[in-house]
Amino acid sequence: MVRATTASGLSRCSMNHEQRPLQLLSTIFGHPAFRGAQQDIVEHVAGGGDALVLMPTGGGKSLCYQLPALLREGTALVVSPLIALMQDQVAALQQLGVRAAFLNSTLDGRAANACEKALRNGELDLLYVAPERLVMPRMLECLAESKLALFAIDEAHCVSQWGHDFRPEYLQLSILHERFPDVPRIALTATADPQTRVEIIRRLALDDARVFISSFDRPNIRYTIVDKQEARAQLLSFIRQDHAGDAGIVYCLSRKKVDETAAWLVSHGVRAIPYHAGMDSAARAENQNRFQREEGIVVVATIAFGMGIDKPDVRFVAHLDLPKSIEGYYQETGRAGRDGAPADAWMAYGLGDVVQQRRMIDQSEGSEEYRRVSVTKLEALLGLCETAGCRRVRLLDYFGESGASCGNCDNCLEPPQTWDATDAARKALSCIYRTGQRFGAVHLIDVLRGRVTDRVTQWGHDQLNVFGIGADLDEAAWRNVFRQLVALGYARPDHDAYGALCLTETSRPVLKGEQQVCMRSVLPRKAKAAKSRRGAAGAVLPPADAGLLDQLKNWRMEQARVQGVPAFVIFHDRTLAEIAAVRPADIDALGGISGIGAKKLERYGASLLALVHG
Ligand code: ADP
Ligand code: ZN
Repeated sequence: MVRATTASGLSRCSMNHEQRPLQLLSTIFGHPAFRGAQQDIVEHVAGGGDALVLMPTGGGKSLCYQLPALLREGTALVVSPLIALMQDQVAALQQLGVRAAFLNSTLDGRAANACEKALRNGELDLLYVAPERLVMPRMLECLAESKLALFAIDEAHCVSQWGHDFRPEYLQLSILHERFPDVPRIALTATADPQTRVEIIRRLALDDARVFISSFDRPNIRYTIVDKQEARAQLLSFIRQDHAGDAGIVYCLSRKKVDETAAWLVSHGVRAIPYHAGMDSAARAENQNRFQREEGIVVVATIAFGMGIDKPDVRFVAHLDLPKSIEGYYQETGRAGRDGAPADAWMAYGLGDVVQQRRMIDQSEGSEEYRRVSVTKLEALLGLCETAGCRRVRLLDYFGESGASCGNCDNCLEPPQTWDATDAARKALSCIYRTGQRFGAVHLIDVLRGRVTDRVTQWGHDQLNVFGIGADLDEAAWRNVFRQLVALGYARPDHDAYGALCLTETSRPVLKGEQQVCMRSVLPRKAKAAKSRRGAAGAVLPPADAGLLDQLKNWRMEQARVQGVPAFVIFHDRTLAEIAAVRPADIDALGGISGIGAKKLERYGASLLALVHG
C-alpha cells in the first residue's frame, strides 16, 4: 500500500509563495481557486507556523494540511481518531498521485514495518496515524529518525474532556510539541463553541498558533422545519419528491423507533437500513460500511451514528424527533452536503416533541444546574423551530455570527404568515386552567371544539364554560396553537403527569388580555416555489443532462468496484454533475472541471470524453 509514485509536477525546489500553492491546488487537486481562508492557512503552515483551524464540515479542512504537506520537505503526520476512514482518505490521495499511507491497528506487523521504513526513507508525503500509535515510544523513535514536514491534528475537539467525542489519547499529543519543537502543527475542528477552542489551545500547547475562524454557515444546506402531522408519511413524501435514490440520514430518538422507521421505509420502497447502539457491533459496522460505499442508502439512526461518517454526498438529513439543542441540530444536519452540492436539512416537529424533551430533562439524573442549562438550550432550539424569520440567521446568531436573510430556508422561500393569536391563546390557556391543569392537548382540544367524548363526559367537562368555545378552529390549528404556547413559554408540560399541560408565570397577562400573542400561521403553505439551487460557491450551473449523468454514475460505480474503493474516491457527485451540465468538448475543457486534477485527467479523461460524446 505504500506507493512509490511521485505526485505529478512536484518538485520541491524554489517554492514560490505566490504561485506554488495555487499551482498545486490546480494540478494535483483539480480546483481552480482556494476557498475562504484556505490560502492564508496553507501559506502560514507551509512557512512553518502553527495554526488552529475552525471550519465547518465540508469547509475544506483537509487541503489546509495536505497542500503544506506537499509544499514542505519531509512527511506530514496526520493524527485522526477515525481509523475506519483512513483507508478511504489514503485511497483518495493516491488517486491524485500523492504518496500517502496509513498506520493503525488494522495493519499486520509486516505492513506496519514497511510503512515505517517508507517514512524513514522519505518516501511518503503524508502518513495518517491513530493517536495512540503516534505516542508509542517506538513510533516516536521512528519519527526522530525521519524528516517531518508537519503534524496535522484532525478532529482536535477530541481533546476536550467536556465534549462527547473525548479521546484520552489526545491528551498525550502535547508530547509532539515537546519532542519536535521545530515541526509546525496544525489542529483542525468543525466544533463551533468558544470553550472547546480554548481547551484545544491549552491542552495541545498551541498558545502561539494563529487561529483561523471561518464562518460556520453552510450555504448549500437548505433548512426546513415542518409541522408534524403524520411524521412518517411526511418523511416519505419528502424523500420521494426531493430525494429519490439519494443517500440520506434519518435521525430518531429511540432504538425502537429507528428499527420501526427503517422497516417501514423499506416496505415503501426506500433502501433504508438501521443503525443504533443496541445492534451488535458487526451489524453496525456492516451498515455503516454499506452507507459509506453503496450509493443511495438511507440510514435511519440514533445520534450514535455520528462521528466517523465522512461521506461527502449525503443529500439530506431528516429529523423525526427534536434534537436536544442547537449545537446538536447543527452538528447532525452538518453531515449533509459536505461536497458543497445542494442538500436538505429537514425536520418534522410537533407538540409531542417538546413534551418529550422537557420530560427527559425533568427526569434526568443531572444536577439542578445541568437541568437549567438543558432547558435553556432546548428553548433556544424551540425558538429556531418557531421563528417566522430566516432560520439561518437564527442559527448563526446562536454561534455569534450575524448575517442577512439567506434565501435558502423554508421561511425565506415562503415567508410564513403570522396572525394575531391572542384570542385563541386566551381560550387555550383558560381551558388548561378550567380543567385543572391535568390534561394533554388531545383532550383539551376536544373540550375547546365541543366534542362529546367518554372522557369529556366522565370529567364533566361538557359543563364548563370553555366547552365548545373554540369550534371556529380545526384540530390541526389547535395543535399548532398549543405547540406554540409551549414553545413560547406560555404553557408548559407538567413534570409528573405525562403530556399534561399547565400554566406558567407568563400565562397570566395573556389570560387577562394584557398581552398580545403572535403566532405562525397554520394555513397550509403555497405550492413549492420553483427550485433554483446554489452550490457552495454560489454558482448556478445549467441543468445537467440526466441521461448522461446516469451513465457517468454507472461508469463510476464500475471503476469503484474494480478498484475496491468507494465511488466518491473516484469522483464526487459534484464533478460528475458539472461534466453532465457543461459537456466539455475536449481534454482541456475537461481539465477545467472542478475536481479533475492532472492525474485523474490522465487516468480517466479519455473514458469520460467517450461517455460525453458517445
Ligand atoms: P472538511 O474536512 O472540512 O469537512 P473536506 O476537506 O473533506 O472538508 O472538503 C470538503 C469538500 O470540499 C471536498 O469535496 C473537497 O474536495 C472540496 N474542496 C475543498 N477545497 C476546495 C476548493 N478550494 N475548491 C473546490 N472544492 C474544494
Ligand atoms: Zn433563510
